[in-house]
Amino acid sequence: MEIPKVAIQGEEGSYSEEAGILYWGKSVEFIPKKSFEEVVGSVQSNETNYGLLPLENTLIGSIAPTYDLLLESNLPITGEVITTISHCLLARKKGPIDSIRRVYSHPAALSQCTIFLQNMKNCEIIPNYDTAGSAMKVSREKDPTIAAIASSLAAQIYNLEIIAEKLEDYPNNQTRFIIVSKSPEGRHYKHSKTSIVFTTLHQPGALYRVLKVFNDYGINLTKLESRPHKTEPWRSYFYLDFEGHTSEKLIQECMEELREQTNFLKILGSYPVWTGKRRLESPEEEVYEEDRSHLPLYSRERKKESTIITLKRDGMEPVVIGGGEFTIIAGPCSVEGRKQLFKTANIIKRSGVKILRGGAFKPRTSPYSFQGLGEDGLRLMREARENYSLYIISEVVSPADVQLVAEYVDILQVGARNMQNFTLLNEIGKYEKPVLLKRGMSATLKEFLLSAEYILKHGNSRVILCERGIRTFETITRNTLDLSAVPLLKEDTHLPVFVDPSHGTGSRKLVLPMSKAAMAAGADGVIVEVHFQPDSALSDGNQSLDPDMYQHFITELKALEQKLST
Ligand code: PEP
Ligand code: MN
Repeated sequence: MEIPKVAIQGEEGSYSEEAGILYWGKSVEFIPKKSFEEVVGSVQSNETNYGLLPLENTLIGSIAPTYDLLLESNLPITGEVITTISHCLLARKKGPIDSIRRVYSHPAALSQCTIFLQNMKNCEIIPNYDTAGSAMKVSREKDPTIAAIASSLAAQIYNLEIIAEKLEDYPNNQTRFIIVSKSPEGRHYKHSKTSIVFTTLHQPGALYRVLKVFNDYGINLTKLESRPHKTEPWRSYFYLDFEGHTSEKLIQECMEELREQTNFLKILGSYPVWTGKRRLESPEEEVYEEDRSHLPLYSRERKKESTIITLKRDGMEPVVIGGGEFTIIAGPCSVEGRKQLFKTANIIKRSGVKILRGGAFKPRTSPYSFQGLGEDGLRLMREARENYSLYIISEVVSPADVQLVAEYVDILQVGARNMQNFTLLNEIGKYEKPVLLKRGMSATLKEFLLSAEYILKHGNSRVILCERGIRTFETITRNTLDLSAVPLLKEDTHLPVFVDPSHGTGSRKLVLPMSKAAMAAGADGVIVEVHFQPDSALSDGNQSLDPDMYQHFITELKALEQKLST
């Protein structure tokens, strides 16, 4: 691997190099540059991978040219490092301080040592481009009356004597350096900081409103600096640092609001806060798993991997839902009696389908329509489950019945009419049973997902979403099957997505074409109504497949699945 190159301002032994060693260790090559502009230019021209620039010092405040360069250069900030700086007076030979006639150093270093320099009588103070560069000059000129203010590292490198030390006006003199690079820091560290620059609207209270946004979002500011707007006299650029990373939703929302309160806003970079520890050889170790706790549980942003639901039972092969295979659930709309259920279950079993549907508690539009057999219906479903070795699904309509239904079935069903029965959803959330949640007939996809969230929130993570048609002005079909919901949901959520073409269309002839379309659209499966004798069905006969149609349906779907997989 090629060793990364870092452009620093100053010669070998400069404080920038010290900061760089603190940040990277010896794993990089430092390329000395005469000026901050050259550091930036070197990164921009790809001569180096990183540039290191001092940004602020605890004694003298901001290093103004760095701020201006940040705005002009378009190089993102990718890191920071803080070093404690202690200045030494270096000369060729040990001797009395008052024999020194000229002192060279970088202006920033000179201005951190004002008290010491005031006491240097008969001595000329000469600003130079660099501290280490000044040490190099003293070393080369062989004049015992000249000295440099630089680091003890520079004394070693240039073979000079330290004739005075701790020259800074106050102890604990620290400089914060930033690292710039052509590509932003991709990783998100636990303790991150973001730097921005903005100009305010030219209105009373403009800066107050900007700062208020941070207050409203509870974001901690760590630095505010203003610099003159060079082309608009008496206007300012404000540079602001705050805690947080732009990949966090909170920070993104805050930035959006900030745009409304500013004329100009530029994000200079999000980067790890300096913790005093050197960056590890493999910085991944420090990488923070992004905090996703504010995102909805259903969302793919929160959980990338698709949810896979496995049905298991002793002596039976497991059934995997959402694992890439297309799952078919089939059976009558309602459980009407033993003969009807068993004859239909037999057809289902022979077709190779593993999950039998059958409603025992029926949410009917009219109170005079057949309401289902209740617990008797569940008992029959249970018998069919044992006799035909099938998994079963049945609807629960009331929070009080959840426990009862859950004792009988392998999957609980929540019907369209109950999609927003939040008490029911809350109750179901407390169980471990998989749930097939149907979309309400006038529910938006967002509302649908939020209903799933009710269940997930309580800890039941095994939710299957089912598109079953929505109400539109169309009257030929019972509902309008919204197949666009399938790819949209698959994008937004990790939950498996099913389609119910029986209720979605209300017409048995549409069940096969719509199931094919659902498969092609990426659904994880379908739930369809089948009756051994649809004309005699107590509910939804029109949309139930008869045995022949069902056979054809299975053959066609298997063929399509094969085709789509090749
Ligand atoms: C059902 O599947 O039997 C049913 C009543 O469906 P939906 O809730 O979609 O109307
Ligand atoms: Mn039905």
